[in-house]
Formats: sequence, C-alpha cells, structure tokens
Amino acid sequence: MTVIEKLQEALGDDAVRTSAEDLSVYAFDGTAILSQLPACVVLPESVDQVATILSIANDTQTAVVTRGSGTGLAGGSVPSPGCIVLCLVKLNQILEVDTANLTMTVEPGVLTQKIADTATAAGLFYPPDPGSIKISTIGGNVANNSGGLRGLKYGVTRDYVMAMEVVLADGRMLQTGTKCVKDVAGFSLRDLFIGSEGTLGVMTKITLKLIPPPEAKATMLGLFDQMTDAARTISAIIEARIIPCTLEFLDRTTVACVEDFAHIGLPTDVEALTLMEVDGHPAQVAEAADQIEQIALEHGAREVRRASSEEEATRLASARRTAFSALARRAPTVILEDVTVPRSELAKMVAAVERIAKEHDLEVGTFGHMGDGNLHPTFLTDERNEAEMQRVEVAMKEVFQTAVDLGGTITGEHGVGLAKKPFLRGALGDVPLDVMKSLKGVFDPQGILNPGKIFD
Ligand SMILES: Cc1cc2nc3c(=O)[nH]c(=O)nc-3n(C[C@H](O)[C@H](O)[C@H](O)COP(=O)(O)OP(=O)(O)OC[C@H]3O[C@@H](n4cnc5c(N)ncnc54)[C@H](O)[C@@H]3O)c2cc1C
Repeated sequence: MTVIEKLQEALGDDAVRTSAEDLSVYAFDGTAILSQLPACVVLPESVDQVATILSIANDTQTAVVTRGSGTGLAGGSVPSPGCIVLCLVKLNQILEVDTANLTMTVEPGVLTQKIADTATAAGLFYPPDPGSIKISTIGGNVANNSGGLRGLKYGVTRDYVMAMEVVLADGRMLQTGTKCVKDVAGFSLRDLFIGSEGTLGVMTKITLKLIPPPEAKATMLGLFDQMTDAARTISAIIEARIIPCTLEFLDRTTVACVEDFAHIGLPTDVEALTLMEVDGHPAQVAEAADQIEQIALEHGAREVRRASSEEEATRLASARRTAFSALARRAPTVILEDVTVPRSELAKMVAAVERIAKEHDLEVGTFGHMGDGNLHPTFLTDERNEAEMQRVEVAMKEVFQTAVDLGGTITGEHGVGLAKKPFLRGALGDVPLDVMKSLKGVFDPQGILNPGKIFD
C-alpha cells in the first residue's frame, strides 16, 4: 500500500487531496519565489486524525509539512519534495473563553482576527496583531512566534501562550503548560514549540492569555524630512519613559506607494513617516500624546497629525497597515525582508539598506516596527530578470550581515524557514545551531517534520 492509500483508508478519500489543482494551491506560502508541489494534502477534522496522519508518516518515513493559512514569509510551509501537507484550517473552533482565569483555548486553525474579536466580545484583549491578522491562523502565529504592530508595549505571540497540546512526530500526544500564572514544573517545553516552525511537533490546541483592554487610545502620524530625525524622535520618546503601543515607520518610497494606493492625503516628499499610538487610562493617554507631539516637533518633525476620531485613527493607521500591499503593487516580484537591530542602530541600518540598494542598482522600500528596531526592507523586483535577481541576492546578504554587525538579527518575526536557512549559522554561530539540531533529533528522530526548514 502507498502512503496515499494508507491515508485514504484511515481518513476517507475526501480528506486526502491529490489532484494537480489542489497540489498547486498548496505549493506556495507568502514568500514570492519559493514553491514545491507536495505528494498530497490532508485536511484533518479532529486531533485523532492528526495523530493518525503522523503515525502513518512516521511508519513510512514520509515528510509532513504542517500548514495554517500559508501566509508565512520565510517559506516555512512550502512543501518538501514528496511530502504530506498537513493543513489545519478545519481545526478552527474556539473551545473556551475563561473569564475567571482570563484565558482562551482554541484550535490551531482559528484565524487571529477571530481570536481578537472573541476577546473583545468578552470585554478582554488579545494584543498580538500581525499585519496578516485577518488571514493568518493562531497555529502559524505560535509556530512562527509572530510579532505585530503592538510588540513594543505588549510583546509578541510568545508572551500570550500559556499552554498547548502537541502531537509528536510518532503520533503521541503531549500537553505542556497550564492556565496557572506560575508554573515551573520541569523544562518549559511549551517555549520550545513556540517559534519551532513546524519542525518539532504539530500544535492541536493552544491556551492563550488575555488581558483587560485599554480604556483609551491616541493615534498620531509624524512627518519627517530626515530619517535620522525620525529615529532620534523614537529614542527620545522611550527615554522620556513613554512606551507607546505602536511606533512604526515608513520610508519615502513606501509613503509614495501607500499614498498612490490608499489616498490618505500624505505628503510624498517626506523622508520618513512615523505612526505613533499610545493607549491606557484616558488621562495618561492625553498627557503622553501631548508629550510625544512635543518631542517629535522638537526633533525635527515637519508636522504631527493627531486623530480626533476613531475613523480618523483608522485612516491614519492604514498608512502603515497597507504598506506591504501598496509596495506589492509596484513590481511583479516583491521580496520582503525582516531584520532587527538594537533601536539605537536603526537610522544606521536604514541608511545601509538604501546604500546597498543603490550600489546594486535596486529599488527598495523600507517600513517596519521602529520601536522594536525591526525593519522590513522590501525589494521591488522581477524574478524573470535573472541578472537583477542575482543582484537582489547579493544585496540581501549584505543587509543581513550589516544587521548582525550592528548587534541585530536576520529575522525579527517571520522566522527562518527556507529563506533564512543559509544565513542562520553565520548569525548564531556553531554551538547554538548544533544544540538546536540535537533537540530536533530528540523530538523527531526520523526527521519527518518539516524537513529542510531552519537547518538541513
Ligand atoms: C500581508 C502580510 C502581513 C504580515 N505581517 C506580519 C507581521 O506583522 N508580523 C509577523 O510576525 N508576520 C507577519 N506576516 C507573516 C505571516 O502572516 C505570519 O508568519 C503568520 O503567523 C503565519 O501564519 P499562517 O497561518 O499563515 O502560517 P503558515 O504560513 O501556514 O505556517 C507558518 C509556519 O508555521 C508552521 N505551522 C503552522 N501551523 C502549525 C501548527 N498548528 N503546529 C506546528 N506548526 C505549524 C508551518 O509549518 C510553518 O513553518 C505577514 C504576512 C503577510 C502576507
């Protein structure tokens, strides 16, 4: 019996997809240039089915690539050759909202937006908000430890994962973590699975921490003629002991693309635009917003626009939220990168990206989470132009090296997947990488889970 026949026998024919059309749909993730057809796609409807699929894969030494919505930007859910794609979008139930313990327990295929909305409906708040919030799944968010626009004040996905159920490579079930605020019983296996990109196990249930929502929020846009002034403003805000919930930026190219796309009324001759939001108690918010406005003007802002209504706040915030979509319209192939540097090195990093792009005759737009030092240099290119693609590759290597030289890292939130694999050893060094490989061997001795991702 073939693997596909075994899967069909165990799950029924409908649960196992093998048509050319189906396979091609699952050949990609959000990364523009990586693709590979799988052998089949399975869409389990229960945890028992997940365990059955993994047992069959383990017995037959068949690769399994777990997948949520496939919006990842590092090739993490791009199939390995001959693999089973294990797509979890049908495990999409909110299992419990526990208002006594402030937790929500969900299946991995629930969309992140649904989690945020369910928390809001219960009078609570789930802060992580990746730009893909409307389309990504919580399983993908946890597996990539995704960040978002509120990372500076509220942290990233890891900070909200309390417990999880995982199916291991051989089909065994593992429970790690509890609803307890304090729990130091043994190693924190939960933390190993967070950010493991589908290489250590398949998460089938996740318990998230919720918090009370902020009562008020103020939204401002800062417009700057110099990127260095924007960076100095960010540093000065933090030095003033203000921690905004959002501190984002767009460079000149990105602002021009956003304005062309979203018609927000932005001046297209600015060097930098910052989106600055504070939330909390209304009195504190008003005071912090005044301080931020003053700091920005003192540090060279041409203008600060403050939203006077929720609609206006949404409109101003859309300058940042539409950045990737706006850039994506500008070129056939858009390669979005994800480097992070200490906040103090941000202006240097942005300048280096511009210099590197110029030296290699490439168009780049940079935007990102300025408060986190996390930049997304986005190369606007065309994969049919081989010479240009080669120049992009060299430029990207230089961008990663610069980030590492400045004390930063090659990925702040998108993960390693296939895209960053060649750069991981250089960024981490031999010993951390070897320890990671040893851990992988413990969880997945046959190497069937997302093989070839993060490292070979
Ligand atoms: C427009 C846009 C904006 C984005 N903005 C952000 C942003 O602001 N911040 C950010 O961090 N990312 C962002 N991303 C990247 C992406 O959306 C996130 O990485 C997201 O978490 C991926 O979720 P997904 O459901 O699409 O996962 P997938 O892409 O399907 O999978 C991602 C990884 O998780 C693994 N995986 C998925 N589910 C499970 C599971 N249940 N168990 C084990 N492993 C699993 C996969 O094997 C893969 O390695 C953006 C992407 C787009 C297209």
